[in-house]
Amino acid sequence: MFITATLVNYLMLCHRKVWLHANGILMEHTSDLVSEGKLIGQESYPQRAERWTEIEVSAESSSGVRLAAKIDFFDPNAGIVHEVKKSDAKEAAHVAQVQFYLYVLRLNQIKAEYGWIEYPKLRSIEKVTLTEEDQQSVERKIRQVSEIINQEDCPEKLPISKCKSCSFFEFCWVGEE
Ligand code: SF4
Repeated sequence: MFITATLVNYLMLCHRKVWLHANGILMEHTSDLVSEGKLIGQESYPQRAERWTEIEVSAESSSGVRLAAKIDFFDPNAGIVHEVKKSDAKEAAHVAQVQFYLYVLRLNQIKAEYGWIEYPKLRSIEKVTLTEEDQQSVERKIRQVSEIINQEDCPEKLPISKCKSCSFFEFCWVGEE
């Protein structure tokens, strides 16, 4: 299977979430949230559809893992990835996701200078670069995701206090609170 930015994002949050997603256990509203995030992006920046493009790329990592990335807003001339987050908090997982995009683009010899993560609710943006060191970190994350999704057993749950906003909350905790 392909390792995606979603899985790399989840890796930063919960290994169990990575495994569940990769094994086809998708909570219905997960896709709604993705659509909502995209909608917020379109509504917050209505001009972007004219200037930037959606792009899908795949590649193979240095360790032979198959990768796929679908980037909603990419500026091919400047080589800039734009990611919009509906979240009202900045997260390391968002940075990891955009670095994954930059990594996959570069593997395809596509100009990928840096990314911007835009937080309309915070009225804030964050620049994301991909240094040589970051690239090694992305490769480590890809290997880690690959190991998790190939393990037979579902990883242990996190403490419930860390689960409140997770789309898998009901799956993991129904009847256990
Ligand atoms: S509910 Fe908690 S344990 Fe379950 S996948 Fe989400 S973060 Fe992980």
